[in-house]
Amino acid sequence: MTQIVENIESKINVSTIRSKFPVLDQKVNGKKLIYFDNAATTQKPEVVINALSDYYRQYNANIHRGLHTLAERATAAYEDTRKTVQQFINASEAEEVIFTSGTTESINLVANAYGRKFLHPGDEVIISGLEHHSNIVPWQLICQEKSALLKVIPIDAKGDIDLEAFKKIITDKTKIVAVNHISNSLGTINPVREIVQIAHDSGAIVLLDGAQATAHVDIDVQELDCDFYAFSAHKLYGPTGVGVLYGKRKLLESMNPFQSGGEMIKEVTFEKTTFNDIPYKFEAGTPNIADVIAFNEALKFVIGLGNKEDVLSYEQTLLNEATERLKEIPGLTIIGEADQKIAVISFIIEGLHHFDIGMMLDAKGIAVRTGHHCTQPLMNRFGIDGTVRVSFSIYNTLEEVSIFADSLKQIVEKWR
Ligand code: PLP
Repeated sequence: MTQIVENIESKINVSTIRSKFPVLDQKVNGKKLIYFDNAATTQKPEVVINALSDYYRQYNANIHRGLHTLAERATAAYEDTRKTVQQFINASEAEEVIFTSGTTESINLVANAYGRKFLHPGDEVIISGLEHHSNIVPWQLICQEKSALLKVIPIDAKGDIDLEAFKKIITDKTKIVAVNHISNSLGTINPVREIVQIAHDSGAIVLLDGAQATAHVDIDVQELDCDFYAFSAHKLYGPTGVGVLYGKRKLLESMNPFQSGGEMIKEVTFEKTTFNDIPYKFEAGTPNIADVIAFNEALKFVIGLGNKEDVLSYEQTLLNEATERLKEIPGLTIIGEADQKIAVISFIIEGLHHFDIGMMLDAKGIAVRTGHHCTQPLMNRFGIDGTVRVSFSIYNTLEEVSIFADSLKQIVEKWR
């Protein structure tokens, strides 16, 4: 149960990793902080924080347009992050990597720039019952605008996508399938390779929402053969305000711009505008230079952790221990017990509201998330209005899991 045992059993050295995250070393409400809200956002290693400060202290300049030394340095650093992302997700070329403000903007980009051009009345878009609102609402809006039909793949009681149902609802009118790689509320790892295959066989393109996947599993967009892959830097130890949209070159080139203005143009006259090549066609205006540059350090940190299987396996140890301990608590029900899941546990406790549980854990220095987790349709599927969600990361320990489980038990004994 100690960190030493973890270090012997696992290739992950948690103490060393923790020492890289300054925020973890503090007391909250008089107790040592236990941060179990990693699915909402991860903490940032010092190298990321330093990279932000270095940029502003040493070479703040606008990119791409300037010829002076600082502009060239900033441009090189910004473009270097693109190359690291390419390597991180195994895209075939860096031009297929577009920087956005986050997963939400990446999905909106596809819904607007692809959907508006290629959806026609009577066409269909398929999402799943597990989706975050960010992968529901953009499709609802574009379907309404284009008189297309939005269909939903049902979820079973364990929190898995019903693949057989998917095969039944997909038709030759389905143009886009948009599903998450991993569910933020339940942790379910979806069979995305199979989903892509089924969609492609039917002639549809696939967007994968990878917001919850990139920190935990290997991402190989060529192997997945997805057409688009969206994720956020802040869930991957990077800064807020940066996201990525990967897209296959052919599709990106066929799309209209999403936003327009500076940088995304080749030539502008009052009569007409020609557009820049990808990726710049989709990066209108001054981008989030500092955060993109700092994101490079986050990616290097993750790559430096080594094999993602070791990361997943360490996090699974935390998941298994926490699941076992939570199941000992009377009246506690875990929502979502898929066979393949990352270290996320959503639960409810009979007689206690999730908000109250969250507040009482916070009083003990334990940060968890409560509510619907931006998945109201999924909550409706389970007949609840919210859960308590704990989500673990590479810097969490078995000792923290134990303190959390003991604290929760005390809360239940006192208040239920
Ligand atoms: N999709 C999933 C599965 C998520 O978990 C989240 C955030 O929690 C999002 C999309 C939206 O991400 P962002 O708020 O970074 O744009």
